Amino acid sequence: MAMIKRTEWADATALIQSAQKIVVVTHVSPDGDAFGSMLGLVNGLLSLDKQVDCAVDDGVDDYMAFLPNSTLIQKKLTTGEWDVMISTDASDEQRTGECGAYARAHSQKVINIDHHATNTMFGDVYLVDSTAVSATEVVFRWFETMNLPLDKTIALPLLTGLVTDTMGFRTSNVTTDTLTTAQKLMNAGASLAEVTARALDTRSFDSLMIWRYALATAELHEGGVLSAELTLVDAQQVGMTEANDLGLVGFLVKVDEAMIAVVFKEVDGGKINVSMRAKQGFNVSQVAFALGGGGHVQAAGATVDGLMDDVKARVIPMLIDAAKAGTLTIG
Ligand code: 5GP
Ligand code: MN
Repeated sequence: MAMIKRTEWADATALIQSAQKIVVVTHVSPDGDAFGSMLGLVNGLLSLDKQVDCAVDDGVDDYMAFLPNSTLIQKKLTTGEWDVMISTDASDEQRTGECGAYARAHSQKVINIDHHATNTMFGDVYLVDSTAVSATEVVFRWFETMNLPLDKTIALPLLTGLVTDTMGFRTSNVTTDTLTTAQKLMNAGASLAEVTARALDTRSFDSLMIWRYALATAELHEGGVLSAELTLVDAQQVGMTEANDLGLVGFLVKVDEAMIAVVFKEVDGGKINVSMRAKQGFNVSQVAFALGGGGHVQAAGATVDGLMDDVKARVIPMLIDAAKAGTLTIG
């Protein structure tokens, strides 16, 4: 996957300056970077006296409620017209779900903020940089070009995306620049200890129960591909309405024998979500893209039509090939 660096800072700033009503959307199944970049943008735009809405399907998760103005996040958009829609951390339009579809249909222009190399370059103005470790890093750079004063309400969400997408500054793309950005955000009032405790070092008892089901299916394949699966029935056993692995795939890839980890999750309506992670030196983004999804070299995913066994039979050989094509560089 080729690198993308198309950052139209001045065009994006001009568009915002001429806009009054702005809506911010992000990807479905939002993570810390999705919420962080959305709320960093919202709070930054509020400081510029803009009228701002923000929404993501299903709304905010409890563990992200500590972010300033998290209560502004809407679950659904049914009314509103905007001058500009900003999409953040979403590599394609579909990823923004129903909220994104509504916002797009009722906005004059779209700014595409992202850091995925699989970005499809939708929208009118691009702030897309696949060398950025998080979407919040792109937002931070944009605000820097505007000389926008950072306060805690802006810095805390931006630091959250930086911390969650780098798993606490531990991924291979972290540079001294990343740490300088973190330092500036901490100087603006964001607590690294708070972000780490709330966004990274947290786990529900439910997640433990769902992991128990998934771990019972763990299987090590040729080439160092470690797989596990989660059905809707498993999820219902622990009182969950959807099969969410709650971070299990990130745990599986730490297993010494695993070069690539994958969790297959049953989604309603004969679809399987494939969530993949790779150790350094291996690439799962190509497989995700081939399956109609996207993501990063070491963390990617897709939702595939079919039944569990058929999807596994199709995807595991692709991952075995990806494992054979790589070489462990660290670990
Ligand atoms: P996760 O495995 O945690 O769901 O996702 C890992 C990475 O893959 C994320 O960066 C996410 O953006 C990307 N990703 C996951 N599912 C999809 C998908 O269906 N489509 C696209 N384009 N990207 C996905
Ligand atoms: Mn991200």
